[in-house]
Amino acid sequence: MSNKKPFLTLETAEQIAKQVGTPYHVYDEHGIRETARNLKKAFAWNKGFKEYFAVKATPNPFILKILQEEGCGVDCSSQAELVLSRACGFHGRDIMFSSNETQPGEFRLANELGGIINLDDITLIPTLEEECGIPKTVCVRFNPGGDFSLGNTIMDHPKDAKYGMTESQLLESLRVLKSKGAQEFGIHAFLASNTLTNEYYPHLAEILFNLTVKIKEETGICLSFVNMSGGIGIPYRPEDKENDIFAIGEGVHMAYEKILVPNGLGNVCLFTELGRYMLGKHGALITRAIHEKHTYKEYVGVDACACNLMRPAMYGAYHHITVLGKEDQPACKMVDVVGSLCENNDKFAIDRMLPEIKPGDLLNIHDTGAHGFSMGYNYNGKLRSAEILLHADNSFDLIRRAETLQDYFATFDFTDFQFE
Ligand SMILES: *Cc1c(COP(=O)(O)O)cnc(C)c1O
Repeated sequence: MSNKKPFLTLETAEQIAKQVGTPYHVYDEHGIRETARNLKKAFAWNKGFKEYFAVKATPNPFILKILQEEGCGVDCSSQAELVLSRACGFHGRDIMFSSNETQPGEFRLANELGGIINLDDITLIPTLEEECGIPKTVCVRFNPGGDFSLGNTIMDHPKDAKYGMTESQLLESLRVLKSKGAQEFGIHAFLASNTLTNEYYPHLAEILFNLTVKIKEETGICLSFVNMSGGIGIPYRPEDKENDIFAIGEGVHMAYEKILVPNGLGNVCLFTELGRYMLGKHGALITRAIHEKHTYKEYVGVDACACNLMRPAMYGAYHHITVLGKEDQPACKMVDVVGSLCENNDKFAIDRMLPEIKPGDLLNIHDTGAHGFSMGYNYNGKLRSAEILLHADNSFDLIRRAETLQDYFATFDFTDFQFE
C-alpha cells in the first residue's frame, strides 16, 4: 500500500475546480513553510547559512514571497528570473546568479541588483569585466570531472556535465579576479541531481571543503562562502526512503569541523540552492479523467498532458497518482494514464495499478511542485494551467490564471488574421 497521501481532499479539489476548471497545479503553503523552517534548523549551526531557492523550479512570485518570509534568497539563471526576483523585492545578497552560457546583459542586471555572480567558466571573466566591472564579491563554479560516487554507487558523471571549471581553471580564476579587485570569494558545485541519500551533501561538502583549504594554501584566499547548490531529492515513489534533512545538516557539520575549522576556516558561510527539495512534495497536478479506452491496453485519458508536466515524457520519471475520493479502494486495475498530445510519450503512468477510474474522477498527480509547471510548454496548442495556493486553513488563492487562446495567439502581431 502507498504511504503517499495527497495534501488536499476530493472536496477541496472539487471546490477549486469549480472556480478555475481542470487541470491545475496546487501548492501546499503549510508544507512549504515547514520544509523551509526545517532546512534552516538543520543548518542553524552555521552562522551565515542561507538557502537560495532555485527559481527555475517554481517561478511564481507568490511562492517566492513565502520563501522570502522564511528567510530564503533566490538562485537565478536568466534575465526573466532576475526580473521576477526583483519584482518580489529580492536584492543584494538575497540573489545568487548561477548562469551558464550567459546571455549578453545578464551579468549587468545581476550586478545592478547587487546579486552574487557565480561564474561558470574562466573565459567569462573578461565578459563580466566588460559588462559591469569585476564585483567586490564573486563565486566560481567547480567541476571535478570523473564520476561522482558514494561508496560503490556512481551517482552522476561530472565529466560529462557542461557546468563549472576544472580545479586549475578555478584556482587561476580566483587569482585573476583578486588581481582585478575582487575581495570576497565563494565556490559552488552541483554534482548529482535528485539524490535520495543523506550522504550526498556531506560528501560534496568534503570535496568543496578540501578545495577551500587548497585555495587558501595556493592563493592565500580565505573563502567567505561555500555553495552546495541543489540536488537533494524527494521520494517520488511510495517505496523511496525520504531524506532526513537533520542528518544531512549534521553530516555537513562534521565535515566542516573536520576540515575547515582546523585550517582556520571556521567562518565560512554555507549556502544551498535547493529547488526540488523545497517545493517538489508541496505541489500536485489535479486533472480530471475524461475518457476510457479499451484496445490492446487499458487507457484512462485525462485533461492534463505532458505540456502541464513534462517529467514523465522527458525522463520516464515516476509520479505517484492518487484517485481522489478512492484513497481506500484497492488498486485492482492496470492502466496507462494518458494525455491528449499527438505524441505517444504523453503518458503520466504506464501499467500502473490504480482503483477503478471513471470519467469525472479527479486524479492527484503527486510531487509536481518543482520542475513541474515551470517546464510547461505549448505543443499542440495546449495551454498552461492555473496555479493555486492552498493555505493552512484550507482556503485557497489563484496565484496564476490559466492561459487563454488569446495568450497563445498573442505573438501573432498582425491585423491580417482574426483568432476568435
Ligand atoms: C537546477 C539548479 C538548482 C536546483 O536543483 P534541484 O535539483 O531542484 O535542487 C540549483 N542550482 C543550480 C545552478 C541549478 O541549475
